[in-house]
Amino acid sequence: AAMAAAAGGGGGEQYLYKDPRQPLNRRIDDLLRRMTLAEKIGQMSQIERENATADVVRDYFVGSVLSGGGSVPAPQAPPEAWVKMVNEMQRAAMSTRLGIPMLYGIDAVHGHGNVYKATVFPHNVGLGCTRDPELVKKIGAATALEVRATGIPYVFAPCVAVCRDPRWGRCYESFSEDPKVVQQMTSVISGLQGEIPASGRRGAPFFAGQRNVAACSKHYVGDGGTASGINENDTVATFHELLGTHMPPYYSAVIRGVSTVMVSFSSWNGVKMHANHFLVTDFLKTRLRFRGFVISDWRGLDKMTSPEHADYITSVKLGILAGIDMVMIPYTYTEFIDDLTTLVRNGTIPMSRIDDAVRRILRVKFTMGLFENPYGDPSLSGELGKPEHRELAREAVRRSLVLLKNGKDGEQPLLPLPKKAGSILVAGSHADNLGYQCGGWTITWQGQGGNNLTAGITILDGIRRAVDRGTEVVYSENPDAGFVRRNAGRFDYAVVVVGEPPYAESFGDNLNLTVPAPGPSVIRNVCGGGIRCAVVLVSGRPLAVEPFVGAVDALVAAWLPGTEGQGVSDVLFGDYEFTGKLARTWFRSVEQLPMNVGDAHYDPLFPFGFGLETQPSTA
Ligand code: BGC
Repeated sequence: AAMAAAAGGGGGEQYLYKDPRQPLNRRIDDLLRRMTLAEKIGQMSQIERENATADVVRDYFVGSVLSGGGSVPAPQAPPEAWVKMVNEMQRAAMSTRLGIPMLYGIDAVHGHGNVYKATVFPHNVGLGCTRDPELVKKIGAATALEVRATGIPYVFAPCVAVCRDPRWGRCYESFSEDPKVVQQMTSVISGLQGEIPASGRRGAPFFAGQRNVAACSKHYVGDGGTASGINENDTVATFHELLGTHMPPYYSAVIRGVSTVMVSFSSWNGVKMHANHFLVTDFLKTRLRFRGFVISDWRGLDKMTSPEHADYITSVKLGILAGIDMVMIPYTYTEFIDDLTTLVRNGTIPMSRIDDAVRRILRVKFTMGLFENPYGDPSLSGELGKPEHRELAREAVRRSLVLLKNGKDGEQPLLPLPKKAGSILVAGSHADNLGYQCGGWTITWQGQGGNNLTAGITILDGIRRAVDRGTEVVYSENPDAGFVRRNAGRFDYAVVVVGEPPYAESFGDNLNLTVPAPGPSVIRNVCGGGIRCAVVLVSGRPLAVEPFVGAVDALVAAWLPGTEGQGVSDVLFGDYEFTGKLARTWFRSVEQLPMNVGDAHYDPLFPFGFGLETQPSTA
């Protein structure tokens, strides 16, 4: 009764929606019937952090705010600064007539990667190789805590793309080319949001508590199937093929109670996904009974035309009628609000469509407990980058590594490497570069090289910590053939770490997939110079290694391991076994692409599921 009284409004009127003991649907109905059109359209708008001043949040009833591409309040901002920023916006939202909390979202796609000193887990391409849904679920739970440490309750993850062509710049965001593996890895949703009980309702968003965050499966649907792997391109496929290859992760995500689904920039058979009423409304919402909300991608409505924004009001009409509930970066938000208002007032968009969108958004917010707990909790700041999470990330690195070769024909395996040696050479641009290890979506959208980026341990640091005290470790980033010839006798063996520089989205589209220079010459100089050598490849996808694979003694795919480089040395030196299995087909030459497991003409260098094993060293 005390609660009901507290929830009561002035003049004796009961604000049912404020009472957490009321059934969810009654709360939604009660709030919805009080809302003006402006308040409803505000809920449907997700604006960029820089624009979200208190006045804007209040005056436009903004429903959601984001840090797009990892936009941060300040370089190296501590968690407390994030909490303060988010809470200020929230105070503005809570001060509106109805006090509807805004929902803050961010791309925490491999841990809370954009936040300084957060634990950065391996990107999905590596996690797929663990084949361990329980481990990935734990990563989801740890990520949720780190995100909560910054006062944020919503992440644009997981990416459940089924990447069918590694030339795609987002391939590393995909767990696998095999939809079944991606389905398994949707376990991360149960870590982020909490595990849905057996009695839970299919399709209803699920949320365990204030140490969890709302998740977002993206990008619906067929993002990983575009022609030549060109980002945001057209996916040409029959409905049957789309259902068999790209849709399965969404069945799993909905069953796990995912709160939101993001629409893909890409098209299906020439129709922009943002305009696809059949797939968004008839299939996802009706057939799969998804009851959370559908969010557009960044300026997704603008991008429905070429050039962008050419006919915005038509794009708004098509997008909202297709079933998009929340628009990420309506550009500009004032224009979006005006256009949508016009479209509703002139009857082009029925109020029932707006109400459906707002119901879904409110359902997620109520389910999350956001009305009762709108503010970030600064006491969680210790969760960010805490040792237990780093330990989990290190384990994930160990489990994600795939051993592709160990020993030349007729020779002894090189791995595990002996810890006790006179002197060893470590070479290559990726041995001592935390930014390269982490890849894109780290601190900045594109990621960047360097060791000052955030806190972590490079692969070289890991090697130094792994070897015996008496073992000399010589690091040379780019040794020439002369250096190797002069010193060949000095080194017991070499570890060469090369790979791709960081990239994100279209910037990573790459039609040749060669190992970037000077990687191949470092491999040639070291491995061809008479030193036994293990090559560790740091990359977001398989690369063309056939030209040099014969010359190396051992080859390890490390993917994009994140901040915990010791996970690599743990396995190289035999403290743990190699157990990872390829979740992607490793091609011989790019001419073969796309080539995926099950294809009629399947002639890979290393097949899907491949991965050698080593025994723990007894040394
Ligand atoms: C990407 C999304 C991301 C969004 C917000 C878009 O460009 O496609 O995956 O969630 O930006 O940063």
